[in-house]
Amino acid sequence: MAVTRRTKQREAILEVLKNTDCHPTANWIYERVKEDMPHISLGTVYRDLKMLARRGEILEIDFTSNPSRYDCNTGSHYHFRCLKCDRIFDVDEKVNTEIDRQVSRNTGFNVLYHCLEFHGVCLECQKKDSLIYKDSKN
Ligand SMILES: [Zn+2]
Ligand SMILES: [Zn+2]
Repeated sequence: MAVTRRTKQREAILEVLKNTDCHPTANWIYERVKEDMPHISLGTVYRDLKMLARRGEILEIDFTSNPSRYDCNTGSHYHFRCLKCDRIFDVDEKVNTEIDRQVSRNTGFNVLYHCLEFHGVCLECQKKDSLIYKDSKN
């Protein structure tokens, strides 16, 4: 079966996303895919990402961020966003489904799922901060 150029592009995009855990933007993915496929356009990357997200193959994280960030981990999980470097990390914390039932009970709404994002300073940025602090003390 012939593999079309579009399929190849989509596979390359998925490959880039699978090989990082930084929850990148479309632009970041575009820069990586372009190294192997110099003719690919940012518009194509955007379209393919939207399509993959619609199909449930990847996750589009867009609740507080603009531009959207993408994630190949489609299972229910929480995120931590570093306010200094703007990276998003997966948080290995059990997803609390009881809260969905609780909100359903209290509001009468049919809650399907919830999203949760923790904000703060990541380990690397904390380390950098302490270095700056030490330097300024000397
Ligand atoms: Zn950070
Ligand atoms: Zn994630």
